[in-house]
Amino acid sequence: MNSVAQHLLEIKKELPAQVKLIAVSKTYPVDVVMLAYEAGQRVFGENKVQEMCEKQEQMPKDVEWHLIGHLQTNKVKYIAPFVSLIHSVDSLKLLQEINKQAQKNNRVIDCLLQIYIAQEETKFGLSPEECVALLESDAYKQLNNIRVVGLMGMASNTEKEEQIRKEFRELKKLKDRYPAFKEMSCGMSSDYKIAIEEGSTMIRVGSSIFGKRNYTV
Ligand SMILES: *Cc1c(COP(=O)(O)O)cnc(C)c1O
Repeated sequence: MNSVAQHLLEIKKELPAQVKLIAVSKTYPVDVVMLAYEAGQRVFGENKVQEMCEKQEQMPKDVEWHLIGHLQTNKVKYIAPFVSLIHSVDSLKLLQEINKQAQKNNRVIDCLLQIYIAQEETKFGLSPEECVALLESDAYKQLNNIRVVGLMGMASNTEKEEQIRKEFRELKKLKDRYPAFKEMSCGMSSDYKIAIEEGSTMIRVGSSIFGKRNYTV
């Protein structure tokens, strides 16, 4: 068995039934990503629109594509025909554009609101207060071609387990205010086990499946 298939099996073996694995395939070539497909994986996450579109064209049509990285409004149109879930919605303006493009494609697009939970300055996302304000706005209530199904967050890049746990708990607390929210997308290669203990329903794992990433690609 190849190492991608092996890593995938090891991770899936320990996953509780309610947790979905998003295989984060960004930067890995299609032939490597296909090893995961052939081992049964059908849900893949990409952080760049162009790369996701290229892989979507080349790979089998039963793949579920999740956009997990920052999305610019002018690029929504490229993914609107096929994207399964957008994890990284961080403004009302973006949500309105997704709604518009979903309407053009005669579909409803599922979205998560990305919440800023880390201590770091560089992460995108809404504050919990901004999230609440967005959900309570009249403009949001008029959007019929999107469905916000939960929240997404990224914990601080730290070794301190208690810090990570605290950040995931903050996300869970916000999610629990909205009974309609079924999904909480959090946990990556380094912290997905903690995320699952804190209520994650979607983990986004790349390097633990595909190996060390080559950022020069
Ligand atoms: C790259 C990425 C991941 C996966 O990271 P790994 O450490 O390789 O598991 C998860 N979420 C987001 C938003 C990413 O950009």
